[in-house]
This record gives sequence, C-alpha cells and structure tokens, in this order.
Amino acid sequence: MGEKLKIAVQKSGRLKEDSLKILKECGISIDNGKDQLKASAFNFPLEVLYLRNSDIPQYVEDGVADIAIVGENVVIEKQKELEILQKLGFSKCRLAMALPKDVEYNGLEYFNGKRIATSYPNSLQLFLDENNLNCDIHVISGSVEIAPNIGLADGICDLVSSGSTLFKNGLREVEQILKSEACLVANKNISGIKQAILDRLMFRLKSVLAAKNNKYILLNAPNEKVNDIIEVLPGMKSPTIMPLAKEGWSSLHSVINENDFWGVIDQLKLNGAEGILIIPIEKMVL
Ligand code: ATP
Ligand code: MG
Repeated sequence: MGEKLKIAVQKSGRLKEDSLKILKECGISIDNGKDQLKASAFNFPLEVLYLRNSDIPQYVEDGVADIAIVGENVVIEKQKELEILQKLGFSKCRLAMALPKDVEYNGLEYFNGKRIATSYPNSLQLFLDENNLNCDIHVISGSVEIAPNIGLADGICDLVSSGSTLFKNGLREVEQILKSEACLVANKNISGIKQAILDRLMFRLKSVLAAKNNKYILLNAPNEKVNDIIEVLPGMKSPTIMPLAKEGWSSLHSVINENDFWGVIDQLKLNGAEGILIIPIEKMVL
C-alpha cells in the first residue's frame, strides 16, 4: 500500500460533523466505525485521526498528523508553527471580552487591574500586551460565563457565536479580540508524495468552496435588453446567450456570487429580466 496523508479532525464536538461533511463533498468516503480513533478513506490516500480539538495543533506541529481541520482560534491559542492553508467557512465565532451587563464600560482602560476569566489565556495575553493592559488572568477550562456571577472574576474572555450564552448569564460583549472559523492547517515540512496528495485535496477543496459561494443564474430577457443586463451582472463577462422559442427573447446563463445577487436583483427586473432562476452549483472547478 502506498503512502497516505494523515488528517486530524475533531473527535467529537462542534467541528466534527462539518469537517467530515466537507471531506465527503471532496469525494472522500471514510470508513466510519464508531469509537475509532483512526479511519481510512476508501477512495483517496487519506487517513483520518480523530483527536481532541485542543490537542490538534500540537499533533500537526509534531507531524503525527500532516494536516488538520481545526478552529483558527485554537491555532492562535496554542502558538504552534503551522501553515494555515484554507479557511473553510464553518464554525465561525469570535473571541470577545464581556462584562456584567450593568457595568459602565467606556473603553479598554476599564480592564486594567481587573480579574478576567478565560480558557484562552495566550490569546488574551496577546491582546492585553498589544493594548498595554495589565489584568489578572484566571484560567478555567469550561463554563467561563458563570465566573462573574460567582465572584471569581470581573469579566470574561470567551468564544461567542450568537451571543445567547452571554445574554443568559447577564453578560454583554464589549470588545472583540479575534475572529475565527474552521480552517485547514498543515505541518510546515510536508514534501514528496504527501505534498502531491495534499495538492490534490486542495484542488478539490477549492472547487467545493467556490461552489458554495456561487450560484448558477438563468434568466429570460428581451433581446434589446441583453446588453444592459450583462452590464448589471457583476462578473458576467461572457454569459451564455440562447434564443428562446418566443421571437425576440433570449435566455442568459451565468455564474454569480451569491452575495452580489441581492444587490442587483432590482436592476435586473428594471431591465426586463423575467423568469430568474438561481441554482446551487455542486462543484466549481477552478
Ligand atoms: P475538545 O475537542 O478538546 O474537547 P472543545 O470542548 O473546546 O475542545 P468544542 O466545544 O466542541 O471543543 O469546539 C470548540 C471550537 O468550536 C472552538 O475552538 C471554536 O473554534 C469553535 N466554536 C464555534 N463557535 C463557538 C462558540 N460559540 N463557543 C465555543 N466554541 C465555538
Ligand atoms: Mg469538548
């Protein structure tokens, strides 16, 4: 059997499901027995190691795994020498400072001399250093949000996505320290066959991610409006134009970034576009 690339993914928790899903979208089928620490792909030279999120950066730095899917915040917190190859668009969150909701807050100076509870002491320390602040950092490994209520700390530094945990605990976000999402990271010394496998994986991944952000658009328009419509559609350099059975009308096909679509929809209609269809793209080969 030939050499395989080893990828670490989270064993259980927030990133696991989406990590396996994105590999699947890359056409990689994994033999997923329960309670396994290791699994192999059937149809791609990849071995999957299921590890704890917080241990992953160390394993990749040591080369136990060649690459991994892990939260960017964990990479920053662990301060390991890793290459961030690709942001993956899921598990988005931010590391933020929060205070009891009725505390009067008027800027970073407030934190000087305060006690801050966090599970991310290194990230917090970097932020404090950048802003010339001194705090008393209390490291706790979970349920950081209750620390102010039980008198353990004046404020917290924790990951936030919707903000509902903060709200439930009577806290309010006052500063954002960093933004994070799941990303593909790699050991700095991959080479040879493993690098070639990684290149193939990256090619697939980029096709999958591009497809997620883009949609296929079809619309009908009177022939005399076709040029105006091409002007309106961002990135529509060379759309496909086909005649409709109805005299004087054409069908336009192109690809559009989903974020751009809502911005131009009114102009499309003003220019006489009808029967607009937006269709998901399965893969987009770049
Ligand atoms: P381990 O796998 O080592 O037990 P964990 O318990 O911290 O780690 P999870 O809670 O499953 O693991 O996932 C934490 C990761 O999920 C974070 O590092 C971050 O990248 C991401 N994440 C996204 N949104 C949030 C959020 N609101 N709160 C905490 N983590 C979040
Ligand atoms: Mg956990």
